[in-house]
Order: sequence, then C-alpha cells, then structure tokens
Amino acid sequence: MLNEKKNDDVVYSFKCPSCQKGTIDIIKNIYDLPDGDKMLILKFECNICNFHKNDIIPLTTNMEPGTMTLQVTNEKDLKSKIYRAPTGKLAIPELDLIVEPGPRADFYYTNVEGILFRFEGAVLIYKKNLEKNDPEITEIEELLENLKKAMEGSFKFTLKITDPQGGSYIIPQDNSKYNFRKIEENKLE
Ligand SMILES: [Zn+2]
Repeated sequence: MLNEKKNDDVVYSFKCPSCQKGTIDIIKNIYDLPDGDKMLILKFECNICNFHKNDIIPLTTNMEPGTMTLQVTNEKDLKSKIYRAPTGKLAIPELDLIVEPGPRADFYYTNVEGILFRFEGAVLIYKKNLEKNDPEITEIEELLENLKKAMEGSFKFTLKITDPQGGSYIIPQDNSKYNFRKIEENKLE
C-alpha cells in the first residue's frame, strides 16, 4: 500500500458518519520532508459537511534525535502538522502545557490547533472539578483566555518537541519558524 503510489490518491470512499449524505474520500498523500524522510498523510474529508480528519504517519525511521521548535505567531501556523511519537515530549511553555513521553502515551498526530483544542478540553475538565472559591480559578481562567487567543492565532507561543530517539515530527506551514537541534550522541549517555 505504501509504495508506487502517486501523490493525492483516493484510496477508499465511504458514507459520511456525521451527515449521512456526503461521501468521504480517504486521500493519501506522500510528503517529502526537507531532510529526505517521507511522511504519509491520510486525509478524510466529507464533500458535504465539515467532517474531516488528518492522520500523519512517518514512513522512514532514520530520524535523528533532537529538539524541534516551532514559533506559532499567526493562524496559518496553527495548521502545521505535528506528530509526537511515544518517546517525544511536547511542550508549550507559554501555556504551561506539557505532554510527557511514556510507554502509555499514545502516538499523537494532529496539527497545532488540534493540540490546543485537546488541551482546552483537559483544562475545562480540571476547572469543573475545582471548588468555586479555589484561588486557582483565576489562574485557570487566564490560561483559558490565552488558549482562546492562541486558537485564533493572536497569542504567540513556542511549540517544542524533544525526542531522544527521533520519530517525532513537526511539518511547519512556514519553514522560517521551524528549528531543529540535534541531540549529540554523547549527551544521551
Ligand atoms: Zn458529511
């Protein structure tokens, strides 16, 4: 399935589970990364309603361990694709967001927007469980305010993934905002 296919192939179609009317085409796209690696991007898109989903799967394994950072300063940057392998630690320091690596951590492919969205969900649940007079509420509300701005592209932040084994990826919308710093072998020992 992964070889000898051209870009943007429709590989499968089925009826949309959301609107029951549209047809969802699964579109397969092989993305060549600047360093020679390849990613498989699967797009699910309904031709009638808004239902859609993206999956990113790395096709090559010769990825270098390192820290990748993405400066997110506008709405376009939110569409940058993110793939966090189980060994990767994801952080947005400006929003106190940390996704720790671990054996239980799921593979995680989405875009920046998707990460903010999931984080907002988690923060809302956390807030719900606080007592009304908890002093932490003010802090949480401020965080939610910043998150909202971030999702509109009007709050600047840095998304950072550190992966000591390689395997995690950021595919930036704007290459000038992306940086990769290799982890030297001697630092791993
Ligand atoms: Zn639909």
